[in-house]
Amino acid sequence: MADYGEHEATDDPLQVLRHSAAHLLAAAVTELYPGTKYGIGPPVQDGFYYDFQFSKPVSESDLGAIESRMRRLVNEDRPFVRETLSREEAMAEFRKRGQDYKLELIADKVEGDEVSVYRTGDFLDLCRGPHVRSTRDLKAFKLLRVAGAYWRGDEKKPQLTRIYGTAWQTPKELEDYLKFLEEAEKRDHKKLGKELKLFALDERVGAGQVIWLPDGATIRRELERWIVDEELKRGYRHVITPHVAKLDLYRTSGHWELFHDTMFPPMRFDDGEELELRPMNCPHHILVYDHDLHSYRDLPLRIAELGQNYRLEKSGELMGMIRVRSFNLNDAHIFCTPDQVIGEVRGAIELANYFMSVLGVEDYSYRLSVRDKVKTKWAGTDDEWESAEASLKEALESLNLPYKIGLGEAAFYGPKIDFQVRDALRREFTNNTVQVDYQLPKKFNLEYVAEDGSRQRPVMIHRGAFGAFERMTAYLIEQYAGAFPTWLHPVQVIVIPITDSQHEYASRVADRLRSLRLRVEVDDRSQKMQRKIRDAHARKVPYMAIVGAREAETEHVNVRDRSNQEVDSSLESFASMVATEVAERRR
Ligand SMILES: [Zn+2]
Ligand SMILES: [Zn+2]
Repeated sequence: MADYGEHEATDDPLQVLRHSAAHLLAAAVTELYPGTKYGIGPPVQDGFYYDFQFSKPVSESDLGAIESRMRRLVNEDRPFVRETLSREEAMAEFRKRGQDYKLELIADKVEGDEVSVYRTGDFLDLCRGPHVRSTRDLKAFKLLRVAGAYWRGDEKKPQLTRIYGTAWQTPKELEDYLKFLEEAEKRDHKKLGKELKLFALDERVGAGQVIWLPDGATIRRELERWIVDEELKRGYRHVITPHVAKLDLYRTSGHWELFHDTMFPPMRFDDGEELELRPMNCPHHILVYDHDLHSYRDLPLRIAELGQNYRLEKSGELMGMIRVRSFNLNDAHIFCTPDQVIGEVRGAIELANYFMSVLGVEDYSYRLSVRDKVKTKWAGTDDEWESAEASLKEALESLNLPYKIGLGEAAFYGPKIDFQVRDALRREFTNNTVQVDYQLPKKFNLEYVAEDGSRQRPVMIHRGAFGAFERMTAYLIEQYAGAFPTWLHPVQVIVIPITDSQHEYASRVADRLRSLRLRVEVDDRSQKMQRKIRDAHARKVPYMAIVGAREAETEHVNVRDRSNQEVDSSLESFASMVATEVAERRR
């Protein structure tokens, strides 16, 4: 059941603890800053927050004082007391306290005449609980940061101040978590992306639009080549389709009706034409299919594209390369006969698993996302849903893959398998999906000629195997903390001449490596060698090839890797060692 505070009420002890810490925070804030209005304060992953409307601005420098007040309340051992008030009494209590947001919540959220509230000393909150017994049970917490948040997530409503904190059962767990946060900050893709000059976000092009700088674009190009090659090996046919389409195309597909809130506003022309930036590639690939009359012999037809998509995410939700308004998806749509569905789903799962194993994505699980009982939002018949679900299940089970069920997480046109990935910062996200769809082929009246000459409807499988380049690159930056595997690193070798007299040999070394398609730089700045080594380390370059007089004479290089291992090697064996490592995409 949803709490009045718009979070799921839960008995999970850690959630209860964190939610109680949120009350403690609000109690401390209202004591320190009388007149503060409070919004909602739910537990979140690893912690909690509370939204406030302060009468004067509060910043991170005030968190220490708030935290001290929280500790004082802990020492006072104040119980969390639940009370049931009548609607009138509750309204009167919150009106007396000037808590307009709570009044609004009572008006909107409370059904019937009974209102559950919790009292901690003077502090009163609209809440169903449960809570810890007393403030004394809160032993390990810390306030972390301050952010802006619109009341009820609505940009048209007042902006409140959100204070985030973390809370744990024991001081040891808190300490471990704070260490993790420190490490996470070092890995943050926005920070590293800037330091390593991989990408830029520039207000002049607009929020949520990624500019891939040369080194970032190099990583992306390597990924793209690899993905396309692997798909070619598996019988995919690549297409290139426009970033826009007439709005009618999305009316037919059903996307406009369901997703117009996250689609860019259409571009309207004088002649009445309406063009829309595409939010997904499916309708375009349907047109690719529909361009020909297909026979059963053509199927399965696997249409793939590195497709650019546009979605109008809320500005408050944009984040680095993780939440953007324009992204490129490794997308494919497989058109097949009903008999081929299970085999194609298996193939799609196996390809995604292969991509993830090469990239070193290990922390992920499978979710079979199915419809829930709210029937209206699901297109199609029960038979179609059951058979689609059965195919996905059978594919997962035949591969011996364990999975969870995601009730209500299906796409509107069919169930799907989601690959739920956890990144180095422990955020879970859906990276790839495999979906079985009987609806879009129907809406677009797709056909193929069956063996007996009759016209039949193909099944459509939507499949992402790698995910979006933006999200995945952010993942990789954080996973490797910038120290990418050699095959992905923008610069694979830096050649460092010890003195000016080795410049010529250094450029010969670079030429030889480049002839093997390796990415090489020569650091011929007039800097001390130690400085050059330090700089190469900072860029996390996999190999330095240091060349002095002796190396030049013997056609050797002094090789240093990222762990500072040093070996002397002939140029030829070094070159072939790196080339092999790259060709095999070793981690
Ligand atoms: Zn509560
Ligand atoms: Zn699709």
